[in-house]
Amino acid sequence: METFSIAFPATVYCAKKHGVQIRTRSGGHDYEGLSYVSYFNVPKFVVIDLRNLSSVSVDVESKSAWVQAGATIGELYYAIGTKSENLGFLAGDCHTVGVGGLFGGGGYGYLARKYGLAADNILDAKIVDAEGRILDKKSMGEDLFWAIRGGGPASFGIVVAWKVRLVPVPKKVAVFDVLRNLENDATTKLFHQWQSRAYKVDEDLTVYMTFQTAVSSTIDHNGKNVTKIVLQADMRGSFNGSVDKLLGLMEKEFPELGLQRQECLEMKWVESFLFFILFRSGESLDVLLSKKSNFNFLSLKVKSDFVKEPIPDDVFEKMLEMLYEEDVGKALIFVFPFGGKMSEISESAIPFPHRAGNIYAILYQVSWEKEEEKEKHANWVRRLYVYLTPYVSKNPRATYSNFKDLDLGTNNLNKGGHASIKQASIWGTKYFKNNFYRAKAACQRAGAGRLGVCSMSMGNGGGLERAGYRCDEVLGGEVIFAIGWEKEISSSRMQ
Ligand SMILES: Cc1cc2nc3c(=O)[nH]c(=O)nc-3n(C[C@H](O)[C@H](O)[C@H](O)COP(=O)(O)OP(=O)(O)OC[C@H]3O[C@@H](n4cnc5c(N)ncnc54)[C@H](O)[C@@H]3O)c2cc1C
Repeated sequence: METFSIAFPATVYCAKKHGVQIRTRSGGHDYEGLSYVSYFNVPKFVVIDLRNLSSVSVDVESKSAWVQAGATIGELYYAIGTKSENLGFLAGDCHTVGVGGLFGGGGYGYLARKYGLAADNILDAKIVDAEGRILDKKSMGEDLFWAIRGGGPASFGIVVAWKVRLVPVPKKVAVFDVLRNLENDATTKLFHQWQSRAYKVDEDLTVYMTFQTAVSSTIDHNGKNVTKIVLQADMRGSFNGSVDKLLGLMEKEFPELGLQRQECLEMKWVESFLFFILFRSGESLDVLLSKKSNFNFLSLKVKSDFVKEPIPDDVFEKMLEMLYEEDVGKALIFVFPFGGKMSEISESAIPFPHRAGNIYAILYQVSWEKEEEKEKHANWVRRLYVYLTPYVSKNPRATYSNFKDLDLGTNNLNKGGHASIKQASIWGTKYFKNNFYRAKAACQRAGAGRLGVCSMSMGNGGGLERAGYRCDEVLGGEVIFAIGWEKEISSSRMQ
């Protein structure tokens, strides 16, 4: 018998009996830290940390895999890539993100325009529900199975494992990651081209763009090193095919970039993640197994939007100007394209509703080192978000539930964490549009209301988590015990 089948139901039972909150943590990459931080004044909580529950079993014949919730996407990609050259999976490209939270909220990656989100490709799941029962797709019923695929699983129970459909990938993919230090107007031209085409191009091609400031050094005519702050545009792409074909497509669709053959590489699908992590090729695939990121993460705040019409050039130029207001390299704007398969899947297929009509999504991010300056920096993202109001999705102004943003609303701090459905729908419909109401009903039918599955596992960020059923979030409460913890809970968000 697997340990979780005793430990999790027992934890749920004890927590319920003693009225203690539960937090579930898989990869720990929640943008508001809700898998291990508490925001409400409840003295004690339990963290169920699944990081050691991370086995992956790939079945090449049935083109599927069972992956335990504590696995990172790096571990999943490694398991697939070492078993087959022709199968892959679609999730993100940061290898340390956990599949527990990522798949439960959607899971966007380079293959999304071809095959949809990770959550669109979940075939089965094992969860521990509010009663401490272990359920699979059949025993949990259609509604609950629908709800956990994108609705934020913490609202419904503890996901123990996902069964996913593996997708075909060619023996070699072509990739590039090009940094250009440009003047603002050249960047605007590049972005203009990207935003009017990236969602329409061949669905085998996915191109992301990131903008941030950087220090550039040059040697002047006196041989002196001169530094200045410049705007850096990073264009990263992955293509299911050869470099030859990629170059032809890029020349046709994004001539402003002027992509060169020497900037492109061909490699196995699984190796492309190493390339995007390390910005070089030829390393051992073992890097994917590390649960420690090679990025130095600081405290950060993100907000996000969906875009339906291209943003006017002058508005984009103002966005670029705002990047210079923060410390060099600490603020960024990241855009990733929709279209393709993402537009073909119905809005109600799973709780993630942001489909046809969305041309791309934007993530605004700022990070900082001095905690006492948190509000100053977080306010930069808030100002940018306000500035973008007329140019992004409306009624509701939609947000990706995996990019949690507590600014959109939380349960009442003073009423035991409760919120009315009407109140919760303010943020719930931003994350899930009308799917919020179906997921809420699934949560109640699953008995989550009685225990308050919300209080069992989720923080106050995700939407349904805060849907007002019973979200008794705690603030910096004492952790009673934690399963699988290797080190003390610390204030550092990600490792
Ligand atoms: C560096 C970085 C890169 C990212 N890249 C991408 C990307 O490429 N694509 C993308 O779509 N998103 C991306 N994200 C967003 C990411 O999908 C979410 O932050 C996701 O929720 C993280 O999952 P986790 O398991 O690592 O986090 P955790 O902090 O462990 O969990 C996140 C939430 O899910 C709940 N949860 C976790 N595990 C379980 C479980 N087993 N059962 C029930 N509830 C659970 C937690 O309680 C919490 O509410 C990225 C985030 C970061 C910080």
